[in-house]
Amino acid sequence: MQSQSQYAPCPNCGQSVAKKLNFTWWGGALGPRMFTHVKCENCKTEYNGKTGKSNQTNIIIYFAAGFVIAFCACGGMAFLTFFLNNQ
Ligand SMILES: [Zn+2]
Repeated sequence: MQSQSQYAPCPNCGQSVAKKLNFTWWGGALGPRMFTHVKCENCKTEYNGKTGKSNQTNIIIYFAAGFVIAFCACGGMAFLTFFLNNQ
């Protein structure tokens, strides 16, 4: 019987005892789902359960993209308010 995890082994300790994370500070509920973000039960390292590599680059891109989208939304809102107030 296979008792191994369905995820790739941990890049830090080599164990396959990772658990999927449902929520992270950087990606909310969607981010960890997009990148198969798992956490090693043995050494607490968080990584990509599909590739067995660090998710750091994905996190930075995701975080930056979210920041840009939020910034544009806020900027657009400010512009719209400015535009409507100047009619
Ligand atoms: Zn580990």
